[in-house]
Amino acid sequence: MEQRLSENIKTIYRRISHSAMRAGREPNEVRLIAVTKKVAADAVVSALEIGQRDFGESRVQEFREKLEEIRGMLAAPQGVKTLRGYRPRWHLIGHLQKNKTKMAVELFDLIHSVDSEELAEALDKSAGKINKVQRILIQVKLSDEESKYGIEKENVYELLRLVGIMKNLKVEGVMTIPPYFEDPGEVRGYFRELREIRDRAETKGFSLPELSMGMSHDFEVAVEEGATMVRVGTAIFGERGKEQA
Ligand SMILES: *Cc1c(COP(=O)(O)O)cnc(C)c1O
Repeated sequence: MEQRLSENIKTIYRRISHSAMRAGREPNEVRLIAVTKKVAADAVVSALEIGQRDFGESRVQEFREKLEEIRGMLAAPQGVKTLRGYRPRWHLIGHLQKNKTKMAVELFDLIHSVDSEELAEALDKSAGKINKVQRILIQVKLSDEESKYGIEKENVYELLRLVGIMKNLKVEGVMTIPPYFEDPGEVRGYFRELREIRDRAETKGFSLPELSMGMSHDFEVAVEEGATMVRVGTAIFGERGKEQA
């Protein structure tokens, strides 16, 4: 499993580098988030062992259980390091319900899917209770066809302003999930639009360095358009629900 994962991850990094250079960017401006939703704990441990550090999960509950398994595996007699020793960074990339914010702030380094004032308030409160400043991204909805989550682009600045005054949240950028196109070239306009929204927000005084966009079939286009985080699952771990790599 490790050999196969290692090759897949290396291939993705190579493709990221090529795309970055095509766009005149530095390859190390782009962080690869390995999406491990529906991927078993042992594959996450293998990815940690070969050096992958950023991981994306969709569901809080699924991840909480998996994290326990991962800890258990690392604590086994042959384990050489504790989880903390690896310094992993856990990203929540799926929709978050307001009643799960307590668990989410305990588990995740960066939450990509904040899309309403109510959710931001709940997160701010939960983070405050554990004395944490929770890093977040604002999820923006750029079309009607895409996932039903994300704030409408017209309302992004207002949400940024509101979140900006919440003590226990720190917004670091924006994220989007565009519609699926057979031809990844067709998605370019969405990635560009997210970047422009970010750039306009920065002219209004917000600091939003992170652009989370691009998945297995379109991350190269996303990198050309400025992505700083790409979220890749299938191209690393294989099709979800089928036999894992
Ligand atoms: C599942 C998922 C991904 C990864 O998708 P792949 O096509 O498997 O690379 C990325 N982002 C989000 C929000 C996801 O839910």
